[in-house]
Amino acid sequence: MLYKLCEALLLHEIISMKKQLLFILWLCTSALPLLAQSVKFVKPIEGVAGKDFYLVNYMDHDSTKGLKDINCIDKTYDGHTGTDMVLRSFLSMDSGYAVYAAAKGKVMVTRDNMYDRNKKTNTNGFGNYISINHKDTLYTYYAHLKKGSILVNPGDSVQAGQKIGLVACSGNCFHPHLHFEVWTQTQNIDPFVGSCYKKQNLWATPFKYDTSLKIIEAGFVPYVPNIDTLVERFDVRDTFSQKDTIVTFWTLLQGLRQGDSTTVYWYTPGNTYWYSYTYVMPNNAWFFYWYSYINRPPMTMPGKWTAYFYVGKNLVLTKNFYLTKNTMVEDLIPATYSISNTHEGVKIQSSEIINPSSFSTTLFGIEGKAIPINFSMVGDREALIQLPKNISAGVYMLRLNDAKGSTTKKFIIW
Ligand SMILES: [Zn+2]
Repeated sequence: MLYKLCEALLLHEIISMKKQLLFILWLCTSALPLLAQSVKFVKPIEGVAGKDFYLVNYMDHDSTKGLKDINCIDKTYDGHTGTDMVLRSFLSMDSGYAVYAAAKGKVMVTRDNMYDRNKKTNTNGFGNYISINHKDTLYTYYAHLKKGSILVNPGDSVQAGQKIGLVACSGNCFHPHLHFEVWTQTQNIDPFVGSCYKKQNLWATPFKYDTSLKIIEAGFVPYVPNIDTLVERFDVRDTFSQKDTIVTFWTLLQGLRQGDSTTVYWYTPGNTYWYSYTYVMPNNAWFFYWYSYINRPPMTMPGKWTAYFYVGKNLVLTKNFYLTKNTMVEDLIPATYSISNTHEGVKIQSSEIINPSSFSTTLFGIEGKAIPINFSMVGDREALIQLPKNISAGVYMLRLNDAKGSTTKKFIIW
C-alpha cells in the first residue's frame, strides 16, 4: 500500500512538490529498487550538438552560491537541476526542433497550454513539459516545450527516440531550449560525467563537452541593438541604403572567458579604418550575444564595408555589408511579392511559385523610357534583377507582369 501511495504522489506532484517530495519519498524509498543501471539515454533533441543546439548549462553541483558543473567550472547557473540544450534563435525554433523520449517508458504528466515565446525569466517554471517514467525508478523531464506540440498523453508507452513534442520557450525561459532533467525516486541526478563528477554516464553516446571559443552566428541588422529583436533575427541582412539610419554588427558566441578583450573594427570600401568598439568580458560566457553599431555611413561611400571581429589578438571573424544607392520607396505591389536590395541586385521574392513563361519585369525611367536590365530566376519563387552599372541617380518605375496583370513600384537611385 505504501508503494502505491508513493507512486501516486510521483505521478501527479513531482514538479510542484519537489521540496516536499524529498520528505514524502523518504518514507517509502526503502521499499523501492535502486536506479536501474541498464538504462541508457538517446539524444532527446533533434539536430547536431554544436551546430543546431548547444549544451550551455549543465547541472549545478555546488549546494552553496558557487557554480560547479561536471568539470567544476561555471557552465551552469546557481541551483540548476537539469541540462539546457539551447537552439540558436527563435527563428530556428520556428523551423521546428523535435524533442525525443530519451528512453523507453511510460508518460506520467504532460502540460501543453502555456505561452511559448517568453523572453524574460518568470515564475512559470517548466512551462509546457512532459515527464516519463523509465523502469519504475528513473524519471526524465522535458521542459519549455512548444504550446500545442505535445504528442503524448499520461499513460502512453513511448519508445526511446520517439518524437514527443517540439522545443520552444514556455515557462521560465528567455531563449528557446530544451531543459532536460533526470530524477530517481529520491534524487535529482546528472546524466553526464566529467572530471569532477563521475557518478553515472547515462548516455548511450556521450556528448562532447565543449568550451572552445566559437562564433555560432553573426550578421548585421538596421536597428539599435535590442536583444528581444536580435534573438528573433529580425531583418538580418547585408545590404543597407539611404533609408537605413543604423548598421549593427552582432554575433552569438560561445567560449568567451573573463578578461577577454572583444573588439569590432569597421573599415570602409577603400579599406580605411572607420570606427572600433571594445568590450572586456566581466565573466566567462558560454552563450553570448555581442553587438556594436554605427550610424549608417554617408551615401557618398557606397560599396563593400568590412567588420573585423577580434578576441584578444585573434581575428575570429570577417564580415561584409554593402552600402547601396538603391531604395524602394513606394509599395504598390501585391502582398505575394516582396522586393529588397541586395548586393547581388534587386531581389524579387514571391510567396507563390513564379511561372517564368508569364512573369517579366521592366524598368522605366520617370519619362517612360525602358532601361535594359538583366533578369534571372533563382529557384521557383525568386527573381534577381541586375541594374546597369552606370545607371544615373533619379526616380525609376519597376514593373512586374504576371498572369494576373501588372503592378508597378517606384524606385529611387541616389
Ligand atoms: Zn534549464
